[in-house]
Amino acid sequence: MPREEQVCEIITVGNELLTGRTLNTNSQWLAERITQIGGFVRRCVVVRDNVIEIAEILKEALRRNPNFIIVAGGLGPTYDDLTLDGVAKGFKRRLVVNKRALQMLRTKYRQMWKKGVIEKYELTEARIKMARLPSGAIPLLNPVGTAPGVLLNLDSCILACLPGVPSEMKGIFEESLKQVIAERTGRVFSYSRTLNVEGIVESSIAPLLEKIVGRFPDVYIKSHPQGIEGGISRIRIEFTGRSRTKGRVKVRVSKAAQELAKVIRKRGGSVELV
Ligand code: AMP
Ligand code: MG
Repeated sequence: MPREEQVCEIITVGNELLTGRTLNTNSQWLAERITQIGGFVRRCVVVRDNVIEIAEILKEALRRNPNFIIVAGGLGPTYDDLTLDGVAKGFKRRLVVNKRALQMLRTKYRQMWKKGVIEKYELTEARIKMARLPSGAIPLLNPVGTAPGVLLNLDSCILACLPGVPSEMKGIFEESLKQVIAERTGRVFSYSRTLNVEGIVESSIAPLLEKIVGRFPDVYIKSHPQGIEGGISRIRIEFTGRSRTKGRVKVRVSKAAQELAKVIRKRGGSVELV
């Protein structure tokens, strides 16, 4: 890619993710969305609800110099929502009540009170907790729930913290964070084609694949074995390219797929290009 890649690291926080109680759909969703808008996801990690673990993983991520660190989980009102404590500890910032965040929470709780969801709209300590942001941070409006997202500029890296509730995480991403990332990635075209292969096993395709990979370093090729059914081995091979010019990415991806199809046919496999 002619312009520099926007490297993102994703950190999801929550004991329930590490016990297997909750499937980590946030990590997958963020990775897919960031890739779609032209970012490059380099790493996804999961940590427990523990201030030291969160602080350490953040510092470790920052040392690798990504353009974005995106954290999901641990922004709520309960004792185990510790993401912002971890940010404060990791980057030596104080947690201070942010006026804009407080205003966002006030509005949200008033709306909930009007709908009869809560009895009192006062900002209790548990509610104010969600407005205590690391100094210098910007709150991001939560269009779905209460806890605002948090944006913090760490010189060459933007840190974004989102709530763990999937609908809230998605809401804040789509409303605020998407634009921040897309502004930096610019327009990136992605193009994919798939070869459905039958009658040849993956280990026999491996050396053929390696040659094509060497000739098309700009195309990512991934084989997905589908198993053996009725004595016939089936494999899907996906070809993906990303480029700032639509024409070029289409030509390169199609050429790589066609060349592999040709050599597989020569070896007796049957191929369908879709
Ligand atoms: P939290 O406020 O971060 O503790 O998260 C609130 C709820 O969101 C949890 O009870 C989980 O059900 C859900 N959740 C948190 N993290 C994730 C995740 N990575 N993927 C899917 N659901 C999550
Ligand atoms: Mg949690």
